[in-house]
Amino acid sequence: MTQDAIRIEGLKKTYAGGKQALKGIDLTVPAGSIFGLLGPNGAGKSTMINILAGLVTKSAGHVQIWGWDQDRNPRQSRAAIGVMPQELNLDPFFTPRGALEVQAGLYGVPKSQRRSDEILEMVGLSDKAEAYARTLSGGMRRRLLLAKALVHAPQVLVLDEPTAGVDIELRQMLWSNVRKLNRDNGMTIILTTHYLEEAEEMCDEIAIINHGQLVARDSTANLLGQLDAKTMVIHPETPADRLPHGKGLIAETREDGTIAISYRARETGAEAVLEAVRAAGIRIRDVRTEQADLQDVFLSLTRST
Ligand code: ADP
Ligand code: MG
Repeated sequence: MTQDAIRIEGLKKTYAGGKQALKGIDLTVPAGSIFGLLGPNGAGKSTMINILAGLVTKSAGHVQIWGWDQDRNPRQSRAAIGVMPQELNLDPFFTPRGALEVQAGLYGVPKSQRRSDEILEMVGLSDKAEAYARTLSGGMRRRLLLAKALVHAPQVLVLDEPTAGVDIELRQMLWSNVRKLNRDNGMTIILTTHYLEEAEEMCDEIAIINHGQLVARDSTANLLGQLDAKTMVIHPETPADRLPHGKGLIAETREDGTIAISYRARETGAEAVLEAVRAAGIRIRDVRTEQADLQDVFLSLTRST
């Protein structure tokens, strides 16, 4: 399927009180992908997700979910998406099984098609199926929120900071489930996280938002491609009169007398850089390398706006 799972155009949100949380977002999420939505605290990630979920009303713009316009076809667009919210908003008087049954009822899933036991098994809550939600640990409540998002077998699953502050076991359970749902059911997954390594590992594509605006949107591979840039900093024995040169190398003298040579680590090995240094007649007193990481890219993209 080549359709977009989500299509957002000109999305704006101003909260009562005047806070402009989204300032006109255009974004499409391809069907079948695992898509990461990144941004610092307060960037507008949850606002966007809650608009997708129908929990927050937008101020302007258009939202299509699985081809259904949210305003013209609210029932269909809602049925196509399941959201695991950031807040642990559970009714304390329901058991996990009860909560799933109520959720299934809300979405009009016929009794014969309900899969509560299977879903509880999947998230590791089978033995807590009859426990009151108020007796569940924080981790178990998160598992239950994921289970609730899945009862109507949505095409698109959205997870808002699912692993913030959770233990390693739960994190692994979440990610293996997410991968499985994506691989076996072709479910499109959208997740927000502020763990950049996690986004790097999980996501095919990444969008970065800051102050309610989209600042980057690319495949993870391309974003990481930006990180491929490395710099070798040479402290020469004596001031250099020639700079090293070579294919893919950019050399410059810094104010402190060191020579900074930028190169792409994937194309050029350190040995080739050192050869160019020696070929320029430079004797090396000391050497170090500088490398950007996703944190740097993220900061450079989210600092100035
Ligand atoms: P994120 O999820 O990226 O941390 P949010 O979408 O939660 O960001 O918040 C974006 C901005 O909107 C923040 O400045 C936040 O304080 C504000 N905000 C969020 N929810 C509300 C609300 N219900 N009323 C007023 N302002 C809100
Ligand atoms: Mg949030």
